[in-house]
Amino acid sequence: MSRIEWNRYPDRAATEMRAAIGSLHGVGPENIFAANGSNEVLQTLLLTYAGAGRKVATFEPTYQLHGHIARLTGATVVEGERRADFTIDPAEVERVIAEHRPDVTFVCSPNNPTGVVEPESTVRAVVDMAPGLVVVDEAYAQFADWSALSLLDEDRPMVVVRTFSKTWSMAAARLGYVVAPTWVVSELEKVILPYHLDTAKQIAGRLAVGYVDDMNARVQHIVSERERIAAAMAQMPVQQWRSGANFILFRPLNTSGRAVWQGLLDRSVLIRDCSGWPRLADCVRVTVGTKEENDVFLNALQEVLVS
Ligand code: PMP
Repeated sequence: MSRIEWNRYPDRAATEMRAAIGSLHGVGPENIFAANGSNEVLQTLLLTYAGAGRKVATFEPTYQLHGHIARLTGATVVEGERRADFTIDPAEVERVIAEHRPDVTFVCSPNNPTGVVEPESTVRAVVDMAPGLVVVDEAYAQFADWSALSLLDEDRPMVVVRTFSKTWSMAAARLGYVVAPTWVVSELEKVILPYHLDTAKQIAGRLAVGYVDDMNARVQHIVSERERIAAAMAQMPVQQWRSGANFILFRPLNTSGRAVWQGLLDRSVLIRDCSGWPRLADCVRVTVGTKEENDVFLNALQEVLVS
């Protein structure tokens, strides 16, 4: 369809777009629920499976919206701690689950803001232990070398959330989705508002899927730049965490995170200051840019760290 009939409501089920998205993962539209950004997907999951009287488990530090949206639905959030290397410790998962029996358990991999990718064994362990739904947020999935999509099964209460905002370079379109067992998709459809996906978005989503090779090429370039930045930073006095995303979290060893953030800003390089966030003292996060931007960042960082 090349023309939008603006006087008509959109396809309420967005079937063609969901089929196109499903084809990326070898599943049908019945395994895909889409919404306005993955944040709305997360909200719909939490409205459906969390809510008042229920519990939601997160492992901190992680994407703040998981806990925030869960609380907005009226649920109680129970926070587990990650290891010092920011991976999830299955023993901690066991403790949280035994103590709280959460209705929803979140795994964010690659994790925001740390970039850390969970190994398959950890995701399997969480799914085996969790009494309720396991939500694996893979907003940055294509930047990593492993995806929990391979663990999806019609009989397993586990879903994988994806977005067009990052690897597809389509944040303006506000389109996210979850790959899930059919019975989960049916429940989410009962909760979402009718006609939530407008016709322009449905067309954009369908067309985007035709550009998967371009997306993969762009992702490959960003991953190789990420590795170049990581290698250069390995020669500098910083602690960094191995990233499977399009950013790197790091902590300077001989000065404060805030001083590094300010020093970079003074050199016209803006990165994310995470140093005031819980559990992230002195941490800052750089997003991979173009080769030129990354060179400017590395030179500026070198200067800031030696001055
Ligand atoms: N999940 C994670 C882990 C994210 O980092 C983000 C965006 N920062 C989102 C979900 C939401 O992205 P969007 O709503 O644009 O799909």
